[in-house]
Amino acid sequence: MIRALIAALFSILAACGDRQSEVVAPQPETTAAAAVDAARLLAADDDTANWLSYGRTYSEQRYSPLKQVNTDSVAGLGLAWSFDFNTQRGIEATSLVIDGVMYTTSSWSIVHALDARTGEHLWTYDPEVDREKIKHGCCDAVNRGVAAWKGQVFVGVFDGRLVALDAATGKVNWSIDTVDSALPYTITGAPRVIDGKVLIGNGGAEFGVRGFLSAYDVDSGDMIWRFYTVPGNPELGFENDAMKMAAETWNGQWWELGGGGGTVWDAMAYDPELDLLYIGVGNGTPWNREIRSPGGGDNLFLSSIVALRPDSGEYVWHYQTTPGETWDYTATQHIILADMELGGEVRKVLMQAPKNGFFYVLDRASGELISANNYTNVTWATHVDMETGRPVEVDGARYIDSPFVVTPSYLGGHNWHPMSYSPDTGLVYIPVLDFPAAYGQPEDFLYRPGTANTGTSGVVGSLPDSQAERDAMRPLMQGRLLAWNPRTQEEAWRVEHNGPWNGGTLATAGNLVFQGTADGKFAAFTANTGERLWDFGTQTGVVAAPMTYEIDGEQYLSVAAGWGGAYALVFGEYVQAESLPNVSRVLTFKLGADGQLPEVDWRPSVVFNPPPRTASEDAEEAGFALYQDTCMGCHGLNAVSGLLVPDLRGSGLIHDADSWDKVVREGILAKRGMASFADYLDREQSEAIRAYIIREAHRGKQLQEARAAASAAR
Ligand code: CA
Repeated sequence: MIRALIAALFSILAACGDRQSEVVAPQPETTAAAAVDAARLLAADDDTANWLSYGRTYSEQRYSPLKQVNTDSVAGLGLAWSFDFNTQRGIEATSLVIDGVMYTTSSWSIVHALDARTGEHLWTYDPEVDREKIKHGCCDAVNRGVAAWKGQVFVGVFDGRLVALDAATGKVNWSIDTVDSALPYTITGAPRVIDGKVLIGNGGAEFGVRGFLSAYDVDSGDMIWRFYTVPGNPELGFENDAMKMAAETWNGQWWELGGGGGTVWDAMAYDPELDLLYIGVGNGTPWNREIRSPGGGDNLFLSSIVALRPDSGEYVWHYQTTPGETWDYTATQHIILADMELGGEVRKVLMQAPKNGFFYVLDRASGELISANNYTNVTWATHVDMETGRPVEVDGARYIDSPFVVTPSYLGGHNWHPMSYSPDTGLVYIPVLDFPAAYGQPEDFLYRPGTANTGTSGVVGSLPDSQAERDAMRPLMQGRLLAWNPRTQEEAWRVEHNGPWNGGTLATAGNLVFQGTADGKFAAFTANTGERLWDFGTQTGVVAAPMTYEIDGEQYLSVAAGWGGAYALVFGEYVQAESLPNVSRVLTFKLGADGQLPEVDWRPSVVFNPPPRTASEDAEEAGFALYQDTCMGCHGLNAVSGLLVPDLRGSGLIHDADSWDKVVREGILAKRGMASFADYLDREQSEAIRAYIIREAHRGKQLQEARAAASAAR
């Protein structure tokens, strides 16, 4: 009956600050590798040849003053070199380039150093993450890149380590655990370095952790400070006054549910003049506030932007984008700082387009809300009230008494894919997601440590039974490149893509915006009007953001290609039909180059050969509920895989109960990333999931045959 409900649910279904172009960037004193120091990072904007940190500058604008590649010349852009990652998991890194060397990462937190001119391999560091750890990853074995400082490269490892590498050799200088490794923390985000401190957060709020950001000494790896984002058990005392204040906004015993969530898994930015570090904070554990904090409350600092002193981790101010967050509306999305003329004065602003669908412009000295407007379809709130700074929610959106279909979905109107800002056009370029998700109050909720604890019924069910209804949802699954004017809080232009989950963006002084797409293109658009001027077939979906650099007077554009991440894993139903293989590599372009990629002669597909259905309908139905809670995050909604991991409906394992159980509960494929689920499933439950997969395999086989027949008849 849950399924009928769920089926019903889804069927409803410029010119800011003058650029001081005369300023000459500090140059390294030696030819040492990764010779990045405070002076170079502070002057990074003028250091046009290099890309020194994740968002290029502390302001994280992802704007490059390079303009050799521009609207007139971009047609001559071609592939200069490529470097194969040899992985089939997602690729999300923004590469750094420092004095001719590229430092980038692939899945499982593997770091590569390459000659940025030729792509020649210099070294690789593999932290050898235990593949079983993937069971604590909501969103693929991804990594978004490294930070560099005085001859070292820092990587946050998926299992919670922070590792300092010798930038010249890739050898480990030090390695520390930043988390209690018994808990379901993961790291996917890029570290940042401020004045000799390397900053790193973590993820895991779906599974049950208490979020924090830590600062470590770059030389020793000693922890200097740690800022928790949510309060712990008040009886144990608070770490600081900010936690005491935050605790007044919580109810119940949230610390018993894994720790409250609020992980800092991606965004950071820094204003050196104000000496403020800005971090984005994620969702609660579980998502559903009714369960997490019975009786309500804003639940600080979930879904907030928090300003801290980078020396001490001291709290300065916060702005909460989604008070009492209950939809997985993180505020971890990319933060951009700019100086912007507003109402006749130049304001130091902070901009964010968090998951909740509203674009925020804040005064970054005070945290005051300057303006907010929805940048995509929003159904959970009508607007942000400028008096209170709070969203005005739509009745019923909290899905307490009855289910509610909400846009944006739990993947947000914008996810981790970085946006960019061009001071030339004054526009922000956002990779927008636009599709709904159904949320419902669960009939009961049992916190299960280490598994996804959303506390909702609708999300874990999702797709309708009927194929016609699933197909009818396809047009709702939208994604676009949106150019947004932050001064007027209005759209400037948009380019609709073939679906959601397209890449991050890069803006350049060549009046160009670069973006890779889910359907396997790396494209250039005019920054002022959105005209598509150039693209290159990447043979794989691109989700990472491009970057650019210059060597010997030649401008290079580079992107880490490789399909993956949460949408790619979960939404197999909509991914699979157009599925591109995952071919993960760095692709680097320059004018006049004409490199070709080797042919790809395969496309992922599912071969159905299911055994007969012998289980009871009740067992199949029980298996469905267990599958959606336990397996769906990697193997896809309703057993339709995004094909980054095996589609279970085509697996030979479903023919034999013992073999199946050896994988599911004994963990014999743990080294390949299929952890044992013996802690969560008994033999009967494992067998029920097998029965459900067999049912879905028959369904898939019939559908495939019907489609083949229809295509033959055409
Ligand atoms: Ca989340």
